[in-house]
Amino acid sequence: MISTCGITTLARRDVVALPRYAPDITPCVVDVSDNVNLWGAPPAALRALTTTAMSASRYPSVYAAPLRDAVLRYLGLSDGQGIDVVSACGSDDVLDATMRAFGEPGDEIVFAAPTFAMIPTFARLNGLVPVAVPMTPDYEVDPQQLVDRRAKITYLCSPNNPTSTALSRATVEYVVHHAAGLVVIDEAYAEFAPESFVDLVTKVERLVVIRTFSKAFGLAGLRVGYGVGSTDVVEPIIRARGPYKVNALAEAAAIAALGEGGDGIGWVTAHAALAVENRARLAAALRRLGFEPAPAAGNFLFVPVARAQVIAQAMCRGGVLVRALSGLPQDIPALAATGGNALRIGVGPWDAMERVLDAFVEALACA
Ligand code: PMP
Repeated sequence: MISTCGITTLARRDVVALPRYAPDITPCVVDVSDNVNLWGAPPAALRALTTTAMSASRYPSVYAAPLRDAVLRYLGLSDGQGIDVVSACGSDDVLDATMRAFGEPGDEIVFAAPTFAMIPTFARLNGLVPVAVPMTPDYEVDPQQLVDRRAKITYLCSPNNPTSTALSRATVEYVVHHAAGLVVIDEAYAEFAPESFVDLVTKVERLVVIRTFSKAFGLAGLRVGYGVGSTDVVEPIIRARGPYKVNALAEAAAIAALGEGGDGIGWVTAHAALAVENRARLAAALRRLGFEPAPAAGNFLFVPVARAQVIAQAMCRGGVLVRALSGLPQDIPALAATGGNALRIGVGPWDAMERVLDAFVEALACA
C-alpha cells in the first residue's frame, strides 16, 4: 500500500479546507431541488446527440467557435460590435475561469448575500477573498454598498439563486458604471425573467454576462455555459478556460437547442413561458397556505419556512425532493422570522406542482 502519511500537507491549504459540493440527492419521485427544466430537453438537441455520437473519437472544436456564433445570433449581437463569447463546461466553469483570469491572489470579489453558493468556493479556489454584503430588507441589493467596496470583481446574480429575485435596471446600471473592477452578471435564469441586462455588454467594457444551457435549455447533464462581453474582457477568460472545454456532443446539442423551429428554440421559449405561468400559480397556492414566497423571476420559488430541513425531510418521505436552506442571513425580516430557514422549490409541469403542494401540506401537518 502506498503511504499517504502527510501527503495532504502538500496540497494547497485553500483546497483542502473546501468541502465537496454535497446537495441532498435522495432519490424521490418528484425532484424539484435543482432548478433544471422539469419538462426535459428540446427534441432537436436530443436528435443532435445521436447524429454527433460518431464524432466521439475526435477532439471537439478548440474554443467552440460554432457555438459562439450561434450564441451571438441568439442574443442579437455580432462580433462587429467588439463582442465575444466564451463557452465552457457549465456556467460554473465560466465563473471559475473569470475569477482566474481577473483575480490576483488576495483580490476581493464582492456580492450581496444570499447568492449562488459556489461563488465563495470558486473565489477561494482561485485565491480570491469573498466579501458578502447584506441584501436590503425587501430582497434588493444596495448598489452603493457593492461599489464602495472597490473590489476587483463585483458579482451580481439576476434572477438570484436562491431568492429567485431580479435586480432592477437602475441597480445594475449603477454598479456597472461605478464599480472599480470587473462586473459579472450571472443570468443563469434569464429566460424566465422579465428583463435581461445582456444589452449592456455593447455599452460597458468592464462587464461579462454569464448564462447557461442547464436551466431553460434543459441540458444540465451536458454541462454547457457561456459568457458574453467585450473582446478585451472575454479574451483573458478564454485563455484561463483552456482548450476543448465543451465536448463535441454538448456543443452540437446546444447549437441545435438554439436552432429555429418548434423543437429547438421554439420548444425552449414555450416551456419557459409555461414555467412562468406555473410559478405564479404555485406562488398563489403557497400564499393561500399562509406563506410568502419572495417575488420570483427564475424557474423556482424561494419560500421562507421555519424548520425547513425538517419539512424537507418529511416532504422527501412523501416522494418530493426540495432544497432546504438554513443559516441564511437574517437582514431580511421574512428570513429573520423563520430563523434563516427557507425552501427552494423548482417550478415545472402542474401535475408535479400538485404533488409538491400535497407533500408540503402533509409535511406541515406531521413534521
Ligand atoms: N449560476 C447560478 C445562479 C446557478 O444557480 C447555477 C446552477 N445552479 C449556475 C450558475 C451553474 O450552472 P451550470 O454550471 O449548470 O451552468
